[in-house]
Amino acid sequence: GALIAQMLVEPVGLILRWYDELQVAQVSLARLVGVRDIEPDAGDGALTPAGRDIRADRVRFGYREGVDVLHQVSLSVAPGTRVALVGPSGAGKSTLGRLLAGIYAPREGAITLGGAELSRMPAERVRSHVALVNQEHHVFVGSLRDNLLLARTDARDAELWAALGAVDADAWARALAEGLDTEVGSGGFALTPAQAQQIALARLVLADPHTLVLDEATSLLDPRAARHLERSLARVLEGRTVVAIAHRLHTAHDADVIAVVENGRISELGSHDDLVAANGAYAALWRSWHG
Ligand code: ATP
Repeated sequence: GALIAQMLVEPVGLILRWYDELQVAQVSLARLVGVRDIEPDAGDGALTPAGRDIRADRVRFGYREGVDVLHQVSLSVAPGTRVALVGPSGAGKSTLGRLLAGIYAPREGAITLGGAELSRMPAERVRSHVALVNQEHHVFVGSLRDNLLLARTDARDAELWAALGAVDADAWARALAEGLDTEVGSGGFALTPAQAQQIALARLVLADPHTLVLDEATSLLDPRAARHLERSLARVLEGRTVVAIAHRLHTAHDADVIAVVENGRISELGSHDDLVAANGAYAALWRSWHG
């Protein structure tokens, strides 16, 4: 899927124009790095989610054989809830997020959506349910329309405009001389980082996954652009299940459940009040964030 392609393609510096090429690239790159070792099994009912709950069940994972980043991680995310992953740098939060979004498959254990194993589902099916949102710029060479159609190839222009409107990007998009045909990406119309982020959010609106894994890496945006984007993001998150890799106080505070990740394990799990009362790692983190 496009999200996987984005994550893999950008670091190796390829610039790809067409969606088909992206899919081909995804397959070959995925093989190259050993991601998603799947045998899509069309017609198998077991691969059709029977609900929207996402679970990690005794997941072991490492990027390299013999170097485990996650050990026996279990986590249950109920539909419509917000879960915040917090913990020290390098503890495995982003890695767990990538597994919950179906980008990597566990080496042992399972990630399931409505009882169906993500790693056995075709990538497009995973993508229709769960998406990863981060702050990397996901704009490809091509027109604004091409960039939006990555999320849903059959969307009509009216739907593209509605998606741009939903993330407050319609004003600047309408001012573009060639509208949706405007070339963006390197060599085309120079998008600001905030505009690039809005395109990524508009894609989410189009793809409409019920679950989002949000990696809120520290922002490179100026404070005003960040606040503006924050509002658009809040609207996109509305009504969806969210697993947020939290780098900010209020994301953790407002979550239904906080999971503290330390050394590849979930060491504490509970609400903000529970964990502050428990006076463990989360309480210490909370105090440090406050101070
Ligand atoms: P941070 O808060 O700094 O983002 P994190 O808790 O999200 O940290 P991860 O990014 O999941 O931690 O990293 C966990 C471990 O996995 C680290 O040792 C990291 O170096 C390693 N790691 C992360 N991504 C990769 C990768 N793509 N390839 C190889 N190793 C990786």
